[in-house]
Amino acid sequence: MENGIERVNCLILGSGPAGFTAAVYAARANLAPVLYEGIEPGGQLMITTDVENYPGYPDGVQGPMMMDDFRKQAARMGTDIRAGFATSVDFSGPELKVEIDGKNTIIAGAVIISTGASAKWLGIESETRLNGHGVSACAVCDGFFFKGQPLAVIGGGDTAAEESLYLSKLSPKIHLIVRRDEMRASKVMQDRVFKSKNIEIHWNSETDEILGEEMVEGVRILNNKTNKKTVLDVKGFFVAIGHNPNTEIFKDYLDMDDAGYIITKPGSSHTNVAGVFAGGDAQDKVYRQAVTAAGTGCMAALDADRYLAEKELDEN
Ligand code: NDP
Repeated sequence: MENGIERVNCLILGSGPAGFTAAVYAARANLAPVLYEGIEPGGQLMITTDVENYPGYPDGVQGPMMMDDFRKQAARMGTDIRAGFATSVDFSGPELKVEIDGKNTIIAGAVIISTGASAKWLGIESETRLNGHGVSACAVCDGFFFKGQPLAVIGGGDTAAEESLYLSKLSPKIHLIVRRDEMRASKVMQDRVFKSKNIEIHWNSETDEILGEEMVEGVRILNNKTNKKTVLDVKGFFVAIGHNPNTEIFKDYLDMDDAGYIITKPGSSHTNVAGVFAGGDAQDKVYRQAVTAAGTGCMAALDADRYLAEKELDEN
């Protein structure tokens, strides 16, 4: 530490599957990684119950338990795991500067961004109370648990269309709740939804309340044109109104798409700034799975390793 500034070889931001996988690879490559856990330690899996699609867990695993395993593995390999989150960055000069918790500055040889994305929620009380008990923001993660049951999906974009179509293969009845009289989803996705025999669309409809004490037992929707309320018999409620990538602090330096997802060079984790790499949901709006996040976290650590080795050669 010099004048409140710490120098770190490999700095990892975020503690979801991408961050911890990057940490395992970076630690094993002797990069002495320092990982800051971020605002939601463990990431989105901390609000998931059973995870049955992550390879290596034949009996499934609880999301928080899996993230604890990830954390332990990263720690055992020698990662310096710290509480705290990046509040601002300066990638304008030759040194990569990251401010932590609004006070400490870190100068890093390489930075791996794995800050993830956060699902958007409606923000109503019943949604928060029943989260993980029938309320979910991920059909691929949780749909299987509601096999054969009627379900609701809320949203009108590509995610809502995709989630409805995915669930329609598991459930006899999907109620798609759309707040306007048209969907925002691409034409091709809309066509698929319209053609599906078991997806019923409720236009101009908003969620009034999700019903149930312990588990979801129904949803009351409000038609915003007629003011009529209707109760739908559903056992699962899937919120698909979009995600926000946690990338705001990087926007002055990194190339991003319109929604704020970091753009990486195809087939790699390289961003437009040398020495800055991105993995996980911060750069992926299509797949968004724990296993793909882990894969891109691995890529980021391997890319960082090569970058640091080349930099050292250049300097000597
Ligand atoms: P979008 O922002 O595209 O759509 C969000 C939808 O949710 C909109 O229909 C919006 O309604 C609705 N919504 C937002 N807030 C509320 C609310 N409070 N109550 C009810 N409805 C609400 O998000 P997506 O996640 O669908 O997509 C994000 C991006 O990712 C898009 O560019 C999409 O194309 C892309 N994507 C691509 C996929 C693919 O290619 N396979 C799969 C999934 C996503 P309104 O229309 O009225 O604003």
